[in-house]
Amino acid sequence: SEITVGLGARSYPIIIRSGILENIGAELKKRKIAKRYAVISDDRVAQLFGKTLMDSLDREGLDSELITFAHGEANKNLATVGALASALASKGFDRKDGIIGFGGGVAGDIAGFVASSYMRGVEFVQVPTTLLAQVDSSVGGKTGVDIPEGKNLVGAFYQPKGVFIDSLVLKTLPEQELLGGLAEVIKYGVIRDREFFDFLVHNRERILQLDPAVMEKTIATCCLIKADVVAEDEREGDVRRILNYGHTIGHAVEGASNYTIIHGLAVSIGMAAAARLACLKGVLPEGDRDRIVRALDDYGLPTSVPAELDRSLIKKYLLTDKKVVGGKVHYVLPTAIGDTVISADVTEQQIDIVLG
Ligand code: NAD
Ligand code: ZN
Repeated sequence: SEITVGLGARSYPIIIRSGILENIGAELKKRKIAKRYAVISDDRVAQLFGKTLMDSLDREGLDSELITFAHGEANKNLATVGALASALASKGFDRKDGIIGFGGGVAGDIAGFVASSYMRGVEFVQVPTTLLAQVDSSVGGKTGVDIPEGKNLVGAFYQPKGVFIDSLVLKTLPEQELLGGLAEVIKYGVIRDREFFDFLVHNRERILQLDPAVMEKTIATCCLIKADVVAEDEREGDVRRILNYGHTIGHAVEGASNYTIIHGLAVSIGMAAAARLACLKGVLPEGDRDRIVRALDDYGLPTSVPAELDRSLIKKYLLTDKKVVGGKVHYVLPTAIGDTVISADVTEQQIDIVLG
């Protein structure tokens, strides 16, 4: 499938096709994005798939270099940006050349930020390899790195020239990473698309087995929904906030667990909690709440806050949420499967109830 992210002159395609990794060279040559490419990747992805991508560029006569950094969120920082920029400079990359961000969200965020700033901006292409990156971080143009004071505090909005997605690479993804990505997938159904939610419920087995045709449709639908939301609201106004469904409580759970609960699984807990909250406030029918919680549970995703997590610590994290406006935490609440409302009208007692 091919999706266009509609951003006027900066519109670009997202191409989702099984096996496309071996044909990235041909795709880039056809689109004449740059004459020379730096592929920025973490060591794990480079080890697993670096040769396939570099061979594909080579076959089309595209001059390219693979530049790697050590995997992990801990390396998503300015030191890595500096090291990558130095590597680009020493290899003679100039403003006519392009950068390919190849890997999960960490590689994409770092490579995108380097592309936005190296020589004041060079062409950028994304080849995301985790499910989270394929359905979320590679779409929307947010790039950046962490600093000790907080995550993603230094960055830029920088749109790629194209995103190339191959679901076949997901086969080597650790189970937890796949599940975390699936939480974000289910999120799209709940916030925007009831039919897609039903599709996810009915095709669970095939999705968990990474059936290529079903995965292609799944990833494409998620990208379409995110692209739609981003096109309506590139710089994070009200529309884009619906993407934070499950993330307010999710981030608090992630933080309170000292990041031992990975992002996607914390978001799953957050989505279930927000659905319960919506029901408690009387904006979501019980039947829809139960279907949301059951869908997450059937996928093997967590739907309640672990007993050992300190509730008061979670509540402390809630108040530090980026989306706190005027001292009020804003929650994205489903009003049906496929629709949401944003509400700040939530009492501490209601939070206590849904945290359980
Ligand atoms: P990640 O990039 O660290 O990848 C997770 C791990 O999987 C890494 O060790 C990586 O080497 C490995 N890996 C990647 N692809 C693989 C494959 N196909 N097979 C086997 N292993 C593979 O983490 P992530 O979950 O992809 O991304 C998280 C990051 O994304 C966070 O830094 C977050 O802030 C960012 N993010 C950005 C946006 C955005 O809009 N820019 C949105 C959401 C998240
Ligand atoms: Zn998320």
